[in-house]
Amino acid sequence: MLFGRAKKNPIKITDKGVVEWKYATCGYCSTGCSIEVGLNEAGKPVSSRGVGGADVNRGKLCLKGIFEHELFDSNGRGTKPLIRDHFHEEFQPTNWDTALDKVHDRFREIQEKHGRDSVAIVSTGQMLTEEFYTLGKLTRGLIGTNNYDGNTTLCMASAVSGYKRSFGSDGPPGCYEDFEHTDCLIAWGSNLPEQHPIIYWRMKDAQEKRPFPLIVVDPRVTMLAQNADIHLPVTPGTDVVLMNAMMHVILKDGLEDKRYIEANTNGLEELRAEVEKYDPVTASKICGIDEDTIRTVARLFAKAGAAMQIWTMGINQSTHGSDGVVGINNLALLTGNIGKPGGTSLSITGQCNAMGTREWSSCSGLPNHRVLESEQDRKDVAKFWGIDPEFLPKKRGLFQTDIYPAIETGEIKGLWLIATNPMSSLPNTARIRKTMEKLEFCVVQDCYRDTESAQYAHVFLPAGTWAEKEGVMTNTERRVNIVKALTKPPGEAKPDLWIFNRMAERFNKKGKVSFPEHPADIFLEMGELSKGRLCDITGMTHKLIEERRGIQWPYTREQAENGEMPPAGGKRIYTIDGTFSYPDGRAKLIPLPFIDNNEVPDEKFPIWLNTGRLIEHWHGRSKTGKLADNNKYAPIPFIEINPDAAHELGIREGEYVRLVSRRSDAIVMAKPTHRVPKNMVFLPFHFHDCANRLTLGLLDPHSRQPAYKQQAIRIELMADQTEAARMSLEMREF
Ligand code: SF4
Repeated sequence: MLFGRAKKNPIKITDKGVVEWKYATCGYCSTGCSIEVGLNEAGKPVSSRGVGGADVNRGKLCLKGIFEHELFDSNGRGTKPLIRDHFHEEFQPTNWDTALDKVHDRFREIQEKHGRDSVAIVSTGQMLTEEFYTLGKLTRGLIGTNNYDGNTTLCMASAVSGYKRSFGSDGPPGCYEDFEHTDCLIAWGSNLPEQHPIIYWRMKDAQEKRPFPLIVVDPRVTMLAQNADIHLPVTPGTDVVLMNAMMHVILKDGLEDKRYIEANTNGLEELRAEVEKYDPVTASKICGIDEDTIRTVARLFAKAGAAMQIWTMGINQSTHGSDGVVGINNLALLTGNIGKPGGTSLSITGQCNAMGTREWSSCSGLPNHRVLESEQDRKDVAKFWGIDPEFLPKKRGLFQTDIYPAIETGEIKGLWLIATNPMSSLPNTARIRKTMEKLEFCVVQDCYRDTESAQYAHVFLPAGTWAEKEGVMTNTERRVNIVKALTKPPGEAKPDLWIFNRMAERFNKKGKVSFPEHPADIFLEMGELSKGRLCDITGMTHKLIEERRGIQWPYTREQAENGEMPPAGGKRIYTIDGTFSYPDGRAKLIPLPFIDNNEVPDEKFPIWLNTGRLIEHWHGRSKTGKLADNNKYAPIPFIEINPDAAHELGIREGEYVRLVSRRSDAIVMAKPTHRVPKNMVFLPFHFHDCANRLTLGLLDPHSRQPAYKQQAIRIELMADQTEAARMSLEMREF
């Protein structure tokens, strides 16, 4: 195949012998790109390409998506169920019946002895929605523990909490198309080009066709900040102060949208009283942004015809994460920027199906945003599933970040981890290691058998990954898209859905609850539970979703029957005239007093540690660390350090340094760059036994999400560079 000018240095692309292309949705980030995987004559996946007719990515893929087919035969895949009595013994291969019986028997033993909630289940944002729904039914309806959560608490919980507090329900109001209509965009703690490259391309494409100002709020000069019209290098953890000051200016100048506020919101006077305290002069001393810039940005935002805000982990992973989201929503409501094209507050989510977890996993409640605290919701779901409503708890159980302390104290004895790896992803690794050692019984269900958490498993259940399974995922803009099973899991590994259904047979001995086998049937069952709700998917089927390359919810049966083609109605979930989910249909303006409870730099630990993601890698690198085409671009842990700070510490480019926090230390390579200020370093979080050895992880009071981005460290140059290189090398090995 030749590209470029045929006669002069044409680009030659290897013919991989693709005989068939199969449809899927990318399994890494929440952008939700449509992807086709090429199979050769032997049916082996050998290539990936973007789907031209798909609205999300319009033919494009990023560095992760383009190599995604390499996942299937990467190293370390689990191929057999494994079992052992103690975690320090060698695993022994076993068959599925023995492994599943053991899990059932040990969980029931523990529950009988210590109570139903003494077993905890932690899942992921990586599975397919039908799998989440089935696991929720199994957990809530049969196993009966209330200590059930997802690893989405580490990334999206603050967005969920903030949406619920402001609008009465979870669910991002806007969509990517809003970039094409907006007159002003503020990005709070979001580095799109590296974290969500295809959303960045959508934003940039829209901005080139129809210019609008881009304001980036981020302590680092990220790639997005380098593209900004105005960059606000806010002091870590003080976004809420900046938001309050902007609202102070908007109200002082009379720039609020009085008609919209009057028609659609409650709480203006309480909000006004609070933001009165945050005049720009006072606020600038806390948030580090000068008073005139605060005024300029506030006025630019409020005067825009339509203004949009996006955010990611810079807001969510903070002790004020939920308040930060509410602050963004306050700004949007105050200026009438919810429900119109180009006016929205859009949380850019993390994992490919973090949204599916929020909608259908029952982690924090019951399916389709129902809550355990509502008697009606409990009754409706119990009737639908055929269980006793009294079996359901009356309020939600522990968040993931509270489950581990409960293991520490002995309250929880058994743990089932599904496609998540707390030994790598939770703050303060040393503490989590001790916690995992305390478990009486631990089950790890994962597509890789070599995750750090599997060291503590008594039973390992090998699962399929991504397009070895069939089902749907929901992306950042509420688009439900499909993954087709284009190959089989390796060896004896099975799709997660198969594992849940076989487990359900063991907990469901009287056969009172039905567990359909096929994902398309499960999807139709979910549709019945969605009828008439905000997240109504009754108009969708697997077939239609594939044909349309994804459909945004809500999409109702009536719309489908009337021949209204998607995305009818699904682009935005609130209209300009008050359709919020609180009983009176109004959104809440919520005052946000600021209490600075972060760990901040001091004499002993004078440097801010900021952590985050690289474009090449996905989370704990259990996937991308094994794909040469991803890993070779970022093979070892490093810090971005300001060149002046490096000079003062005698550190040169490429030298190894020790980072020391109050928890532990980590050895990394130094990379001087002006992307960080003198009092801050940035450390990618992907590498095991590295960033999370240092993090403290104070929790947001509403969402229980950890503050991964605000802690204090000191830096020491390693005297023996050869030994340091060896130690750093160890960190990248699995
Ligand atoms: Fe996959 Fe996200 Fe990259 Fe799209 S932007 S190809 S969804 S990792």
